Amino acid sequence: MKRAVIYARTSYDDRDNDSRNLRGQIEMGREYAEQRGYRVIAEMPESERGASGASIDLPVLNQIREMAQSGEFDILIVRELDRLSRNLAKQLLVEKELEQAGVTIEYVLGDYSDTPEGQLQKHIKAVIAEYEREKIKERMLRGKHLKLKSGYVVSGHCPYGYRITKDDAHAYFEIYEPEARIVRRIFDQYIKGITVTQIKRRFVTEQILTPAESGNYFGVNKQRGPYEWSRTSIYSILNNQAYAGIWHFGKTGSGETIPVEIPAIIDLGTFEAAQKRKQHNTRHNRRNRKHQYLLATRCRCDRCKTAMSGNTYFITNKAGERIRHQHYRCRAAMGQVVKDCDAPTFRVDEVDYTVWCWVEERIDDDQKFTASLQKIQAEQKTTNAPLLKDIETIDGLISDERKKLERLLDMYVEDDEIMKEAVENRKRKYLHVIRSLQRQRAELDAEVEQNFLTDAQIESARNYARKIRVGMKKARQNFAAKRQLIEILNITADLIAVTKKEKYVRIRCIIDPNGETIPIKSTSSLFQYRT
Ligand SMILES: [Zn+2]
Repeated sequence: MKRAVIYARTSYDDRDNDSRNLRGQIEMGREYAEQRGYRVIAEMPESERGASGASIDLPVLNQIREMAQSGEFDILIVRELDRLSRNLAKQLLVEKELEQAGVTIEYVLGDYSDTPEGQLQKHIKAVIAEYEREKIKERMLRGKHLKLKSGYVVSGHCPYGYRITKDDAHAYFEIYEPEARIVRRIFDQYIKGITVTQIKRRFVTEQILTPAESGNYFGVNKQRGPYEWSRTSIYSILNNQAYAGIWHFGKTGSGETIPVEIPAIIDLGTFEAAQKRKQHNTRHNRRNRKHQYLLATRCRCDRCKTAMSGNTYFITNKAGERIRHQHYRCRAAMGQVVKDCDAPTFRVDEVDYTVWCWVEERIDDDQKFTASLQKIQAEQKTTNAPLLKDIETIDGLISDERKKLERLLDMYVEDDEIMKEAVENRKRKYLHVIRSLQRQRAELDAEVEQNFLTDAQIESARNYARKIRVGMKKARQNFAAKRQLIEILNITADLIAVTKKEKYVRIRCIIDPNGETIPIKSTSSLFQYRT
């Protein structure tokens, strides 16, 4: 025979209702137990002084929980759901705890429709439904996984070289030979040492349809003409493990992809050889990238106001020596930007030397240099006042939330499980708010970094300046140090060509926003950096 305990509790609005007062609840419980043949081992009303369901201090309920832990009974009879607690989280907590102790809770009143209790039950149902939904989702994902494992495709982009084939129940990738041939060619040639640029040129000459034209995989790119293969599209083929028979389902970069076996266009050895070649090329390029431009991304064509880029090429002279030529060139004049410009090129050694001499002059006097940087710093404080105000507000909010959290932790009662749970929940909420405020703060900090000259930056600018001043060859020849100073000073250069021979540079910097125009010094000695 099952052992039952009857628990009763009244809330403020129950007092005048016969079936809801303590005696009424106990009687209902007794009847319920009798009908089902339970043996009632205890009738436990929460004393009238016992607070409402919202309160945590329910000494009799706590006693019952202890009895459950020591296995003294099997069933807890309660009139209605809300007798345990009106708080959903606490209710669920008590139920969970009793369930784990092997005790079932039975409610005398099963029908909750238009009552507040009914609402509560609906909430619980909602929570359960939510849980069920999660479970179903998980099952579906598992199902998807299994399907994928057996080579079926559920969704996602079909890679170049394949077509999706469907039967009654499934879809899968099938090799599309006209494209697969191209894929094989790309891998074969690349392994043999033919560069991506060369492959691209050959495809353009041979008028081979691009992935976009051939299958509309990535949406047709209207900015490109017909057969205009890009280096990117060739690289993305070289990077795609699908061609070796392993397709990755899921968002790339999320780290949660599911590998799926599909028909291979090339063998794994070929794929790996291509990856090795790519790594080799990267290392090789890095080693050879000695040509550095002091004003990279910082100079502009004065004629058309387009950014200029640094270019390096080698010419072998009559003596058989490879001579390096470096120029800043207007991107419009090069045809990279749709804009007419006939600006000539500028020698990198001459421009860099001219600009650097100018910088050295600026930083010649430490006191003047530091004072000018500090002046800029002070001006920035005025112009960026709204940003600083935002930071102040965020800091205030963070400290408010911290105070709330501290007050909450003061309330913490260690041996009360319900209390503990409630405190933990609130604590999580506060921490969540604090964390999102801190993220916001970090973003603003980053903005400050960008818009302000920091004390640390001034200090490091002075350090570099000092090194250069005392004529340390090392600092002069250290490209990274120089480039950093260029960045701290926020130097930009407009390259001006009056004639092919008569050239100027307008240098703007943080100290001198209007800029100064000076002639470009021609120098026969190459201005070289050693890294
Ligand atoms: Zn131009």
